[in-house]
Amino acid sequence: MNRRDFLVGSGALVLWAHSPALLAKPSGKIEPLQLSEEQWRRRLSEDEFYILREAGTEPRGSSPLLDEDREGLYVCAGCGLELFRSEWKYDSDTGWPSFYRVLPDRVDTKPDRSWFVTRTEYHCRRCGGHQGHIFDDGPPPTGKRYCNNGLALAFHPA
Ligand SMILES: [Zn+2]
Repeated sequence: MNRRDFLVGSGALVLWAHSPALLAKPSGKIEPLQLSEEQWRRRLSEDEFYILREAGTEPRGSSPLLDEDREGLYVCAGCGLELFRSEWKYDSDTGWPSFYRVLPDRVDTKPDRSWFVTRTEYHCRRCGGHQGHIFDDGPPPTGKRYCNNGLALAFHPA
């Protein structure tokens, strides 16, 4: 039995997920990354720019990350901030990479009224890059679905 199975089995996963050991820096402080539009255009592909900087949405089913099932970390494609652990990823059958939990204090949210209903948009706390939307139809234990654009993420295998 590995550490994760033990913790899930004991119901301690929530405490574990909030342990200071997971923070990027010992202080837990995330320095904002602010670049000009021109700097972002140099740094990102055209598609990545559209998603991250213009709050775009990639086509359903287009992300190679949908089939990614290795252990590792999903980080912001704009700045590298760690956002999701692979064990929180699940197949939502929506056509976008989906997670039921995000690392603490890594994203900020705001209402998005661009469609007929108000959705909750979330973005990277460090660079402000748009990631996706949060829905309340996710699996236990959180019931949340972080519906993420694959283009907004980079995967780092463990
Ligand atoms: Zn970022």
